[in-house]
Amino acid sequence: MPATTAAPLIDITRIYAEPAALDLPRGREMAARWPAAEIVPVESHWRIPEVHGDEANVRRWVRIKREALVLGVKKSITVRPNGRSADFIAPSTANGCAMACAYCYVPRRKGYSNPITAFTNIEQIMGGVARHVQRQGVKPAPNQCDAHDWVYDVGENSDCSADALLGDNVRDLVELFTRFSTAKASFATKYVNRDLLQWDPQRRTRVRFSLMPTEMARLTDIRTTPVPQRIAAIDDFVEAGYEVHVNFSPVIVAPGWLEEWRGLFRQLAAGIGPAAKAQMACEVIMLTHNAALHEVNLGWHPKAEEVLWRPEVQETKRSENGAINVRYRAGTKRGYLDRFLALLAEELPWCRVRYAF
Ligand code: SF4
Repeated sequence: MPATTAAPLIDITRIYAEPAALDLPRGREMAARWPAAEIVPVESHWRIPEVHGDEANVRRWVRIKREALVLGVKKSITVRPNGRSADFIAPSTANGCAMACAYCYVPRRKGYSNPITAFTNIEQIMGGVARHVQRQGVKPAPNQCDAHDWVYDVGENSDCSADALLGDNVRDLVELFTRFSTAKASFATKYVNRDLLQWDPQRRTRVRFSLMPTEMARLTDIRTTPVPQRIAAIDDFVEAGYEVHVNFSPVIVAPGWLEEWRGLFRQLAAGIGPAAKAQMACEVIMLTHNAALHEVNLGWHPKAEEVLWRPEVQETKRSENGAINVRYRAGTKRGYLDRFLALLAEELPWCRVRYAF
């Protein structure tokens, strides 16, 4: 059974901290948010064997997700080109996640519990981003990421809405981008954190709510905000000054999948107002999965694997780091994607597709 729980997503009782991370103002602030938490000094945020735990013991790793926070100092502050959903990937201010999607492709740098690690040298990270934005100047021509702005993904390795429960890094980034006229921040999320509605993003941050049919999300998106609540938040985020796009991902092919997506598209069309629709665009990403993750999931959530692991329609591919990934076979995938995009055009003609893969 998936480890759903009525307990809060995050309730920190242990803070594993590099001393240098705790010394910085952001480190002290974050620790002060959880005054009852035990502080455990660690030499490096990369090496904390006790949070890795037993990958088969799902209750334990969900507990670690909820109760552990790691504070570190980010050493390499580099901006990388992307070109798909964003022009650039900003240096991350966190990695890890408190949620537990069965297909999660975010790197599991701390085992299967992979609790949130926040970087407290936020001033340095923001300085690196600001310098990069200044060097780019004005975007010379529209592209699939955006018609005017350079787009920086600020949430490649974590879910920024969940990170914002822990400290002000994400808020600082959102504010940073209000100072630029040529660039915007962007992050995908599966969590509705209404604290973000109190900020003033001035349309310089694009929030991409990830959506999939509700029943499939119940099966695979463990510990996330339920899909109807994600849709219900869209108008509020637009009104608060965010650009809001949707991220149809991952698209999981299983019996009846297209009809379920039709239902989701109708839910979305009925659930948001004209202002949200006028600025909406989407990205579509077909499922990729991973052999090692499949093995782990079989131990705690075999039902999800029935839809995620489908060798009869998938092919394997060895990634650069040697991991065995699976994805829908090339020709088959094209057919699935074409049918998906035709349905999308029929049901949501106002929703521009930025990127489909
Ligand atoms: S919300 Fe995103 S980062 Fe978190 S577990 Fe799910 S897919 Fe991974």
